[in-house]
Order: sequence, then C-alpha cells, then structure tokens
Amino acid sequence: MKIAVLKEQAAGESRVAATPETVKKFVALGADVAVEAGAGSAASYADGDYAAAGARLGDRAATLAGAEIILGVQGPDAASLAGAASGAWLAASLNPFVERARVDGYAAAGIEALAMEFMPRITRAQSMDILSSQSNLAGYKAVLDAAAEYGRAFPMMMTAAGTVSAARVFIMGVGVAGLQAIATARRLGAQVSATDVRSATKEQIQSLGAKPIFVENVAGIEGEGSGGYAGEMSPEYQAAQAELVSGHIAKQDIVITTALIPGRPAPRLISAAQVASMRPGSVIVDLAVEAGGNVEGAVAGEVVTVGGVKIVGHRNVAGRLAADASALFSRNLYNFLNAFWNKDAGRPVLDAEIGDAIRLTKDGRVVSARLLG
Ligand code: NAD
Repeated sequence: MKIAVLKEQAAGESRVAATPETVKKFVALGADVAVEAGAGSAASYADGDYAAAGARLGDRAATLAGAEIILGVQGPDAASLAGAASGAWLAASLNPFVERARVDGYAAAGIEALAMEFMPRITRAQSMDILSSQSNLAGYKAVLDAAAEYGRAFPMMMTAAGTVSAARVFIMGVGVAGLQAIATARRLGAQVSATDVRSATKEQIQSLGAKPIFVENVAGIEGEGSGGYAGEMSPEYQAAQAELVSGHIAKQDIVITTALIPGRPAPRLISAAQVASMRPGSVIVDLAVEAGGNVEGAVAGEVVTVGGVKIVGHRNVAGRLAADASALFSRNLYNFLNAFWNKDAGRPVLDAEIGDAIRLTKDGRVVSARLLG
C-alpha cells in the first residue's frame, strides 16, 4: 500500500497533509510512504525529517507512481494526479460545492475522491474532523489578527499615566472557531460578548465568561439545522437579529464573524451601515470571507479600511499557523485511515456510515448524495 503526500499547489497554501510524525505512524502500519520533495517546507517540516521518519522523497511523478492513497490539504486537479494507481483514494479538503468541475475530473480519472470536510459529526469521527481542527486554530488566529490591526490594547490597564479601558469584542457565530475566539479574547483581557442562531450556544458562551446577545421571542428561533449545523433563518428572525445586533455593534471595538451554513453562501451579518456605525480604529475580522463573507465590504485576501474601520479578510486563516494547522490536519487524516485499517487487506476499508458521507466519486461516477442531491 503506497501513500503519496503531495506538495500543495494552490496559491498561498502553506499546509501539508502529513508530518514526519504521521509518516512514521503510517510506516508502522506497514504502508510505503512517498513524500513530494519540499511538501512540508512552508509549514517548517524539512525533507530530512520525512526521510528520517521512513518516507521516500522524490519529485511529483515518482511520488504519485502507483500510489493507492493520495493525501492533500486542498484538492489538486485530476490532471495533476497522473500515474496514481487506478481507483486510488484522494483524501483532502475538496470544497466540492464550489469545485464541482474538479470533482467530475476525479470521476473521469477513476479516482475515488474522499471529501474530508464531509466527515459526519458523530462522536467516533471527532478525531478525524478537519473542520474542527482548522476552525479552532482560525478562531484563535482571528483574535490575534484583530489585536495586531487594533491601535489600542485589549486588557484594561491601570497605569500611573491613567487607565486604558478593556477592548469590547463581539463574536458572531459560536461554533468551533467562535468558541476559541471567545476564549482567546478573554485570555487577552477583553470584554467579550457573542451571538449565534443556535440557542444551545447561549450556555457555552456564558461558561466561557462572555455575555450572550440573543434574539428572543421570534418564531423559528432554534436555528439548528441538520448534524449540529445552523439552518437558514426566517425573514422575521433575520430582521430581529439585525435590529438587536445594530445597537450592539455600534459599541464594539472588535467584531469577529464566523457564521457558515454548509453548502450555502455565508449569511450576511453586518451591513455597510453597521460598519459605518463603529468608531474609527475598530476592527472587523470576517472568517467567512472565502464563503461569500458575513460582512459587507470585506474582500478576500485583503485588509480594507472603510470610514476608519478595518475589515480583515485573510484567506486560509488556519494556514497562517501552518505548522500547527498541518500537525492537526495530518493527525485527522491518520486517525481516519488508521481507524479503518484492515490488517488482512493491508489497507483501510471504510464502513458505510463514514464512507457514504465522504465519498464523492467511485468507479468513474459522482456518487455523493449531497452533490447529486
Ligand atoms: P460552522 O462553521 O458551520 O458555523 C459557525 C457558526 O455560525 C455556527 O455555530 C452556526 O450556528 C453559526 N451561524 C450560522 N448562521 C448564523 C447567523 N445567521 N447568525 C449567527 N450565527 C450563525 O459551525 P461549526 O463550528 O462547524 O460547529 C457547529 C456545531 O457542530 C457546534 O455545536 C460544534 O460543537 C458541533 N461539532 C460537532 C462535531 C462532532 O461531534 N464530531 C464536530 C465539529 C463540530
């Protein structure tokens, strides 16, 4: 069983899908691991460390030759996978709703594409969940990015020259990223509040010492879609949320938005008028900018200033912590393949619950119910 670890080709992608640590574990399972030279360099993992862990290093063609499992962070074009074994698995974050043509390419090339972001949210799959591991780091980094752009301090400071007041930080969307953002902003000494459409998050916000800001008494308030994700909210709810949030945003120094709805554009949470209501020097970080953006005026890959308010739209925020993001992503992939490793077959064999959820293509066809849906 040959596993290939590719050097990422997407612009700005600094992560790698296996680290020397996980290579060693794959080798211990009996796999033959090939790593494309330089694959880990942007994440500070040196070729020599992969070699010491038991990998063979080579160019892309040598790495792919006969590979039965290909590991990636982002999905490569099918054309760049030539030389892999017929029916080879590709396990990566494949962004299938956006990159549908690429998925069709995997089918045509006979690749079995496994979208790691479709991992079901069930207890036994938690250690395989790339969305959680990467969102956690993104939530942390969003707060640091906000602090770096903010021309004031986060904690209250009482000095001989006078008092500096604590920054007011508002987190919109309290999933994995939002919870970590609350915890990080609290650790930095900010006064933190947060909101979500899922009422279950109210208690989580309080337990982290932040203030929940919630729409009450509006129909359809539960906000829970399938699999623990948010659903799209009613127009009544959206209007009530906009009113509540407007008054609150105007008093904030930092706003971090993280709201996503799987398979849909990100919900618009902050209008240009709300941005204009904030005082100059305030900072907004839009973690959903690549999914269409929560904030009007946010630009993917840029920090823009509108009326003195900075709107931060970094792409691939987890990748800005490339070493840790790679380490966690790689462990997610290892935990996934190891959980299904069949000693007799000398390779992983998926069960239906997880296999059907993440498999996009097989035997030349697109098979994912979510894509055919
Ligand atoms: P996500 O990235 O899909 O969305 C981020 C947050 O934005 C969510 O909390 C969502 O409710 C919120 N949101 C959506 N629309 C909004 C709006 N209009 N206004 C305000 N907020 C809005 O979510 P996530 O981080 O992936 O987590 C979702 C849930 O799934 C969490 O409860 C998390 O703990 C759970 N989870 C479970 C597992 C598991 O059991 N394996 C793994 C990961 C996450």
